[in-house]
Amino acid sequence: MLRVDGLSAWYGEAQALRDVSLRVDEGEIVTLVGRNGAGKTTLLRCLTGLHTGASGTIEFLGEDITALGPHKRARRGLGYVPDDRGVFATLSVEENLLLPPARPAKGGGPEAWPLDRVYETFPRLKERRRFSGAKLSGGEQQMLALARVLRTGARLLLCDEPTEGLSPLIVAQIGDILREVKAAGVTVLLIEQNVHFAATVADRHHLLAEGRIVQSMDNDEVRARESELLQYLGI
Ligand code: ATP
Repeated sequence: MLRVDGLSAWYGEAQALRDVSLRVDEGEIVTLVGRNGAGKTTLLRCLTGLHTGASGTIEFLGEDITALGPHKRARRGLGYVPDDRGVFATLSVEENLLLPPARPAKGGGPEAWPLDRVYETFPRLKERRRFSGAKLSGGEQQMLALARVLRTGARLLLCDEPTEGLSPLIVAQIGDILREVKAAGVTVLLIEQNVHFAATVADRHHLLAEGRIVQSMDNDEVRARESELLQYLGI
Protein backbone atom coordinates (compact mmCIF):
# COMPACT_ATOMS: atom_id res chain seq x y z
CA MET A 1 0.00 0.00 0.00
CA LEU A 2 2.80 2.39 0.93
CA ARG A 3 6.37 2.15 -0.25
CA VAL A 4 9.01 4.67 0.76
CA ASP A 5 12.43 4.55 -0.88
CA GLY A 6 15.55 6.48 0.09
CA LEU A 7 13.71 9.26 1.90
CA SER A 8 15.93 12.01 3.29
CA ALA A 9 14.66 15.25 4.81
CA TRP A 10 16.20 18.51 5.94
CA TYR A 11 15.38 21.59 7.99
CA GLY A 12 17.68 24.05 6.28
CA GLU A 13 21.15 22.55 6.65
CA ALA A 14 20.13 20.07 9.35
CA GLN A 15 19.31 16.59 8.12
CA ALA A 16 16.39 14.98 9.98
CA LEU A 17 15.90 11.79 7.89
CA ARG A 18 18.62 9.72 6.23
CA ASP A 19 17.79 7.30 3.46
CA VAL A 20 14.65 5.84 5.04
CA SER A 21 13.00 2.98 3.16
CA LEU A 22 9.94 1.16 4.42
CA ARG A 23 6.83 -0.62 3.28
CA VAL A 24 3.37 -0.83 4.78
CA ASP A 25 1.06 -3.52 3.42
CA GLU A 26 -2.69 -3.18 3.18
CA GLY A 27 -4.46 -4.09 6.44
CA GLU A 28 -1.37 -3.80 8.64
CA ILE A 29 -0.71 -1.69 11.69
CA VAL A 30 2.94 -0.60 11.73
CA THR A 31 4.60 1.51 14.42
CA LEU A 32 7.51 3.95 14.41
CA VAL A 33 9.40 3.99 17.68
CA GLY A 34 12.33 6.22 18.63
CA ARG A 35 13.72 8.78 21.04
CA ASN A 36 12.71 12.44 20.89
CA GLY A 37 14.20 14.02 17.82
CA ALA A 38 14.73 10.70 16.00
CA GLY A 39 12.71 11.95 13.03
CA LYS A 40 9.35 10.19 13.52
CA THR A 41 7.13 13.26 13.08
CA THR A 42 9.24 14.45 10.15
CA LEU A 43 8.71 11.08 8.46
CA LEU A 44 4.92 11.30 8.84
CA ARG A 45 4.94 14.91 7.63
CA CYS A 46 6.96 13.89 4.55
CA LEU A 47 4.36 11.22 3.80
CA THR A 48 1.50 13.74 4.04
CA GLY A 49 3.36 16.23 1.83
CA LEU A 50 3.46 18.82 4.62
CA HIS A 51 7.26 18.69 4.86
CA THR A 52 8.73 19.59 1.51
CA GLY A 53 12.50 19.73 2.15
CA ALA A 54 12.95 16.09 1.21
CA SER A 55 14.29 13.71 -1.43
CA GLY A 56 13.43 10.09 -2.23
CA THR A 57 10.23 8.50 -3.51
CA ILE A 58 6.87 7.75 -1.97
CA GLU A 59 4.45 5.36 -3.62
CA PHE A 60 0.88 4.99 -2.38
CA LEU A 61 -1.55 2.43 -3.81
CA GLY A 62 0.80 1.84 -6.72
CA GLU A 63 1.07 5.51 -7.67
CA ASP A 64 4.15 7.70 -7.25
CA ILE A 65 2.82 10.54 -5.07
CA THR A 66 6.19 12.18 -4.35
CA ALA A 67 5.35 15.29 -6.36
CA LEU A 68 1.76 15.64 -5.11
CA GLY A 69 0.75 18.24 -2.53
CA PRO A 70 -0.96 17.41 0.78
CA HIS A 71 -4.48 17.99 -0.49
CA LYS A 72 -4.11 15.58 -3.41
CA ARG A 73 -2.52 12.94 -1.19
CA ALA A 74 -5.44 13.29 1.24
CA ARG A 75 -7.93 12.83 -1.58
CA ARG A 76 -6.22 9.58 -2.54
CA GLY A 77 -6.82 8.27 0.97
CA LEU A 78 -3.84 9.35 3.06
CA GLY A 79 -5.20 10.54 6.40
CA TYR A 80 -3.12 12.38 9.00
CA VAL A 81 -3.89 12.68 12.71
CA PRO A 82 -1.30 15.17 14.06
CA ASP A 83 -0.02 15.03 17.62
CA ASP A 84 -1.91 18.19 18.61
CA ARG A 85 -5.10 16.46 17.36
CA GLY A 86 -6.34 19.64 15.65
CA VAL A 87 -9.77 19.64 17.33
CA PHE A 88 -11.66 22.94 17.00
CA ALA A 89 -12.29 23.99 20.60
CA THR A 90 -15.28 26.26 19.99
CA LEU A 91 -17.16 23.82 17.73
CA SER A 92 -19.23 20.92 19.00
CA VAL A 93 -18.10 17.34 18.47
CA GLU A 94 -20.66 16.94 15.69
CA GLU A 95 -19.63 20.19 14.01
CA ASN A 96 -16.02 19.02 14.14
CA LEU A 97 -17.08 15.78 12.46
CA LEU A 98 -19.08 17.57 9.80
CA LEU A 99 -16.30 20.04 9.00
CA PRO A 100 -14.17 18.26 6.42
CA PRO A 101 -16.16 17.70 3.27
CA ALA A 102 -16.56 13.92 3.25
CA ARG A 103 -16.33 13.76 -0.51
CA PRO A 104 -14.92 10.85 -2.39
CA ALA A 105 -11.57 11.06 -4.13
CA LYS A 106 -11.37 11.25 -7.89
CA GLY A 107 -12.23 8.00 -9.65
CA GLY A 108 -14.38 6.59 -6.82
CA GLY A 109 -11.63 6.62 -4.23
CA PRO A 110 -11.86 5.55 -0.64
CA GLU A 111 -15.13 5.20 1.15
CA ALA A 112 -15.93 8.03 3.56
CA TRP A 113 -17.45 6.98 6.87
CA PRO A 114 -20.99 8.35 7.36
CA LEU A 115 -21.80 9.89 10.73
CA ASP A 116 -23.78 6.89 11.99
CA ARG A 117 -20.85 4.57 11.30
CA VAL A 118 -18.56 6.95 13.20
CA TYR A 119 -20.98 6.94 16.17
CA GLU A 120 -21.18 3.14 16.09
CA THR A 121 -17.40 2.87 16.33
CA PHE A 122 -17.03 5.76 18.78
CA PRO A 123 -20.12 5.60 21.08
CA ARG A 124 -18.42 8.09 23.42
CA LEU A 125 -18.47 10.71 20.64
CA LYS A 126 -22.19 10.12 20.15
CA GLU A 127 -22.81 10.75 23.86
CA ARG A 128 -20.72 13.92 23.65
CA ARG A 129 -21.87 15.12 20.24
CA ARG A 130 -23.23 18.44 21.56
CA PHE A 131 -20.20 19.18 23.76
CA SER A 132 -17.67 21.72 22.53
CA GLY A 133 -14.19 20.48 21.60
CA ALA A 134 -12.77 22.39 24.57
CA LYS A 135 -14.82 20.29 27.02
CA LEU A 136 -13.45 16.96 25.83
CA SER A 137 -10.85 14.93 27.68
CA GLY A 138 -7.57 14.10 25.94
CA GLY A 139 -8.84 10.64 25.05
CA GLU A 140 -12.09 12.02 23.61
CA GLN A 141 -10.14 14.56 21.57
CA GLN A 142 -7.98 11.76 20.20
CA MET A 143 -11.09 9.77 19.25
CA LEU A 144 -12.55 12.84 17.55
CA ALA A 145 -9.34 13.44 15.61
CA LEU A 146 -9.29 9.81 14.43
CA ALA A 147 -12.99 9.85 13.57
CA ARG A 148 -12.67 13.05 11.58
CA VAL A 149 -9.98 11.54 9.37
CA LEU A 150 -12.03 8.36 8.85
CA ARG A 151 -14.89 10.64 7.69
CA THR A 152 -12.66 11.73 4.80
CA GLY A 153 -12.43 8.12 3.61
CA ALA A 154 -8.80 7.59 4.58
CA ARG A 155 -7.33 4.23 3.51
CA LEU A 156 -4.09 4.76 5.40
CA LEU A 157 -4.07 6.55 8.75
CA LEU A 158 -0.85 8.25 9.79
CA CYS A 159 -1.15 8.85 13.55
CA ASP A 160 1.34 10.87 15.58
CA GLU A 161 1.42 9.35 19.09
CA PRO A 162 -2.30 8.78 19.63
CA THR A 163 -1.79 7.54 23.20
CA GLU A 164 0.51 10.31 24.45
CA GLY A 165 -0.55 11.64 27.82
CA LEU A 166 -3.59 9.36 28.13
CA SER A 167 -4.47 7.15 31.11
CA PRO A 168 -4.05 3.35 30.80
CA LEU A 169 -7.82 2.87 30.54
CA ILE A 170 -8.10 5.31 27.64
CA VAL A 171 -4.99 3.86 25.99
CA ALA A 172 -6.77 0.49 26.04
CA GLN A 173 -9.83 2.11 24.41
CA ILE A 174 -7.65 3.64 21.70
CA GLY A 175 -6.22 0.15 21.15
CA ASP A 176 -9.73 -1.27 20.67
CA ILE A 177 -10.53 1.53 18.22
CA LEU A 178 -7.36 0.91 16.21
CA ARG A 179 -8.23 -2.79 16.01
CA GLU A 180 -11.75 -1.89 14.81
CA VAL A 181 -10.30 0.53 12.26
CA LYS A 182 -8.03 -2.25 11.02
CA ALA A 183 -10.95 -4.69 10.86
CA ALA A 184 -12.77 -2.11 8.74
CA GLY A 185 -9.94 -2.36 6.20
CA VAL A 186 -8.03 0.80 7.09
CA THR A 187 -4.23 0.51 7.31
CA VAL A 188 -2.37 2.38 10.08
CA LEU A 189 1.15 3.75 10.48
CA LEU A 190 1.58 5.22 13.94
CA ILE A 191 4.21 6.75 16.15
CA GLU A 192 4.09 4.95 19.46
CA GLN A 193 6.50 5.17 22.39
CA ASN A 194 4.47 2.84 24.60
CA VAL A 195 6.11 -0.32 23.27
CA HIS A 196 4.01 -2.57 25.48
CA PHE A 197 0.85 -1.14 23.91
CA ALA A 198 2.45 -1.18 20.46
CA ALA A 199 3.04 -4.94 20.67
CA THR A 200 -0.64 -5.52 21.53
CA VAL A 201 -2.03 -3.49 18.65
CA ALA A 202 0.45 -3.56 15.77
CA ASP A 203 1.94 -6.15 13.41
CA ARG A 204 5.43 -4.73 12.86
CA HIS A 205 7.66 -2.04 14.32
CA HIS A 206 10.51 0.13 13.08
CA LEU A 207 13.01 1.74 15.44
CA LEU A 208 14.29 5.13 14.27
CA ALA A 209 17.52 6.68 15.53
CA GLU A 210 19.08 9.88 14.22
CA GLY A 211 16.89 9.86 11.13
CA ARG A 212 17.50 6.23 10.14
CA ILE A 213 15.56 3.02 10.57
CA VAL A 214 18.03 1.04 12.65
CA GLN A 215 15.89 -2.00 13.42
CA SER A 216 12.66 -3.62 12.31
CA MET A 217 10.91 -5.93 14.77
CA ASP A 218 7.89 -8.15 15.06
CA ASN A 219 5.72 -8.32 18.20
CA ASP A 220 7.63 -11.25 19.73
CA GLU A 221 10.88 -9.33 19.45
CA VAL A 222 9.36 -6.18 20.97
CA ARG A 223 7.90 -8.18 23.86
CA ALA A 224 11.21 -9.96 24.49
CA ARG A 225 13.09 -6.64 24.51
CA GLU A 226 10.45 -4.47 26.18
CA SER A 227 12.48 -3.32 29.19
CA GLU A 228 15.60 -2.68 27.08
CA LEU A 229 13.55 -0.62 24.62
CA LEU A 230 11.86 1.39 27.38
CA GLN A 231 15.24 2.15 28.92
CA TYR A 232 16.63 3.16 25.52
CA LEU A 233 13.64 5.42 24.86
CA GLY A 234 14.04 6.95 28.32
CA ILE A 235 10.55 5.99 29.46
P1 ATP B 1 9.54 14.12 18.97
O1 ATP B 1 8.87 12.92 19.52
O2 ATP B 1 10.33 14.89 19.97
O3 ATP B 1 8.65 14.98 18.11
P2 ATP B 1 10.57 12.98 16.54
O4 ATP B 1 11.21 11.65 16.49
O5 ATP B 1 9.19 13.11 16.03
O6 ATP B 1 10.68 13.54 17.99
P3 ATP B 1 11.18 15.12 14.74
O7 ATP B 1 10.22 16.05 15.39
O8 ATP B 1 10.84 14.56 13.43
O9 ATP B 1 11.55 13.93 15.73
O10 ATP B 1 12.59 15.85 14.66
C1 ATP B 1 13.71 15.31 13.94
C2 ATP B 1 14.85 16.32 13.97
O11 ATP B 1 14.48 17.49 13.22
C3 ATP B 1 15.23 16.81 15.36
O12 ATP B 1 16.60 16.97 15.40
C4 ATP B 1 14.51 18.13 15.47
O13 ATP B 1 15.22 19.00 16.32
C5 ATP B 1 14.55 18.63 14.04
N1 ATP B 1 13.37 19.47 13.75
C6 ATP B 1 12.08 19.12 13.85
N2 ATP B 1 11.26 20.13 13.50
C7 ATP B 1 12.09 21.16 13.13
C8 ATP B 1 11.86 22.48 12.66
N3 ATP B 1 10.63 22.96 12.46
N4 ATP B 1 12.94 23.26 12.40
C9 ATP B 1 14.20 22.77 12.57
N5 ATP B 1 14.47 21.53 13.01
C10 ATP B 1 13.44 20.73 13.30
